[in-house]
Amino acid sequence: MRLRYWTALLVLGGVASFVSMKWDRQPQNQAALPVGPSVNPHGDDASTDAASTERDQVAEPAVAAVETPVEDKDAVTWTRVVGAGDSLSALLAEAGLDTVSRTDVTRAIGSEYDLRHLKPGHVLALSVSADGVPQSATLEIEDGTQILATFGPEGSVQRMAPDLDSVQRAGDIKVKSSIYAALDEAGIPTRFATDLELVLAGAFDLRTALSGGERIRLLWREFSSGDREVGEPAIDFAQLDLSDGSYEILWPDDNSTQTRIFKDGQLLQMFDQPIRGARLSSGFGRRMHPVHGNVRMHSGVDFAASQGAIVEATRSGKIAFMGARSGYGALVEIEHEGGVRTLYAHLSALNEALKVGQRVPAGTEIGRVGSTGTSTAPHLHYEIHIDGRPVSPLSDAPSRGPANRAAQAEGAQVIVDSMQRELDRLLASRG
Ligand SMILES: [Zn+2]
Repeated sequence: MRLRYWTALLVLGGVASFVSMKWDRQPQNQAALPVGPSVNPHGDDASTDAASTERDQVAEPAVAAVETPVEDKDAVTWTRVVGAGDSLSALLAEAGLDTVSRTDVTRAIGSEYDLRHLKPGHVLALSVSADGVPQSATLEIEDGTQILATFGPEGSVQRMAPDLDSVQRAGDIKVKSSIYAALDEAGIPTRFATDLELVLAGAFDLRTALSGGERIRLLWREFSSGDREVGEPAIDFAQLDLSDGSYEILWPDDNSTQTRIFKDGQLLQMFDQPIRGARLSSGFGRRMHPVHGNVRMHSGVDFAASQGAIVEATRSGKIAFMGARSGYGALVEIEHEGGVRTLYAHLSALNEALKVGQRVPAGTEIGRVGSTGTSTAPHLHYEIHIDGRPVSPLSDAPSRGPANRAAQAEGAQVIVDSMQRELDRLLASRG
């Protein structure tokens, strides 16, 4: 199964369009990126690029002859693996770019990726015309993600995730001492213990209420690109036989941003994720504060996500606040019906097309993940308030209304059934 993670495109100059491009990975030890026709907007292979299609229509031969000083066949490609202590500017100087071009490239890449996170092992590739003008620059960062900048009148910057292969896996454990130990013994990623604990927090305390003998069945995906494993395994479905009943958990998939928890076949709670594919990294309530080092109330939940990941409004409402606030950093607050307010903090960028007072539908991009305010690493801090008081974002289902809830439950049950079948099939085939 091929899986397209997420692809975001930002075109400079105010022209926005959404394009997905593919590229073939080369083994990393060759340190060569395919900066050739496949990523060059003037190249033959760029037919999937909406922007270049438009340009091709404009560039009738008579017109093109006037102002097309640069031809790709004279371009030189320069590739370099980032080493310890390298800055982008120093690498660009090494590639022979003048000050103006270095600034252009740095500004373009920096608009989509925080260059303070540049690390040894990242790969920079440049395509430079014969007269020294950059045509494209590609920075490969973690997990094969690329930041691609093209220059010229229709220059653009985009972040591209690789096409990943995913394989579905299933596992079955019986708890003796802890879930962590049981997963470890079964060779299943142990971080699923944290995923289960955080998601179930409002319903069942997996840290303290286990008595041993509980059975847990899991369905998850692992990802690879070429022969390299990339990213974190993603849990899709879990079924837990616990002391007070049977639980089923459905994590968000390609068609839904909701996590849904069933108990004995009934929808118990559901919550919307503001970032697709992100996992919870910290729950609601009292906890040891990662920065201040003492026990404090955590008035929301945290999602682990990479710098620049898209943050979406979890439901429709009116923008109540956009800006900086002490501790929270760059923040968006949205007011919803029924005295409900959602809050999205530590953002690296706010969606500048939005204004306070504006109504937005659910799923609207409101900003990008960052680490502004009191934060040690990029993540999203997300809160839900009802009548001015923070509530657990994981147990807020009652505020949605029974009709919505019933419809959600029915749709989800179909998915639970198919997950169940897939789980049975995989476990049976394992022998
Ligand atoms: Zn937080």
